Amino acid sequence: MSLEVFSLISKYGIRVVQSEVARDADEAKRIAKRMGYPVVLKILTDQPVHKTELGLVRVGVNEGNIGEVFNDIIDRAKGAKVRFDGIIVQQMAAPGLEVIVGVKQDAQFGTIIMFGIGGIYTEIVKDFALRVCPITSTDAAEMLEELRSKEILSARGRRYSKDAIVKLLLAVNDLVMKEGIKEMDLNPVILYPQGAKQDYLVVDVRVVK
Ligand code: ADP
Ligand code: MG
Repeated sequence: MSLEVFSLISKYGIRVVQSEVARDADEAKRIAKRMGYPVVLKILTDQPVHKTELGLVRVGVNEGNIGEVFNDIIDRAKGAKVRFDGIIVQQMAAPGLEVIVGVKQDAQFGTIIMFGIGGIYTEIVKDFALRVCPITSTDAAEMLEELRSKEILSARGRRYSKDAIVKLLLAVNDLVMKEGIKEMDLNPVILYPQGAKQDYLVVDVRVVK
C-alpha cells in the first residue's frame, strides 16, 4: 500500500481515512498530534503482506506509547524481512461493518469485481458476489442482493446505505477500467449506519498495476 494509491482512489470519489507518512518517531508524533490521538500506525510497504499477522498494524496508539510502537513495528518489519518506506500514521476510524471490494483477472472472463462481507474474515465467511467489468448500477445493486447475509446491511436497527455501496462499486469499476489496474483490494471498507458522519471509510488498499 502506498499513499499515491490513496490519492488515486480519492480522485475517483472514494473516501479514504486520513493518512500521512512518517520517516521517524518524532515525525510520527508531530503528525499524530495534528490528527488527534488515538491513531493507527502501520508499515508502508509495496509487498503484499498481511500486515496484521506480522504485527505491522497497531490500532489505538496514544501519546504515551507512540514512540515505542513505532520502533516495535520497524523491528518486526526488519525481522520478517519486509521492505518498507516508512510508517503510515492514520486517523483511527470508528468501528463499523467491515466489507471488502476487490478486483482481479480471470482467465475466462477478464476483469472481475467482487463485493463481500467480512473484511479480514472474508476467506472464512465466503459470502461475496462477482461480476465481470464493466458493471452498471443495476449490476452493483444486484451484487448486494446476492449476498447470503445481505440482511446484515439492514439488521438490528442499523441500516447501511446501499446507494453508497453501489456508488463505491461503480467508482472502483471506473478506476480500474481507466487506470489499467489488474488487481486491487479495498480491505477493509468500514461501513457506517445511516445517520453517521460518513457512509464508509477505506482504511487499507492493495493494488497491482
Ligand atoms: P492488513 O490487511 O494488511 O492486515 P489493514 O490495514 O487492513 O492491514 O489493518 C487490519 C485491520 O486493522 C483492519 O481490518 C481494521 O480492522 C483495523 N484497522 C486498520 N487501519 C485502521 C484505521 N485507520 N482505523 C481503524 N481500524 C483500522
Ligand atoms: Mg487489509
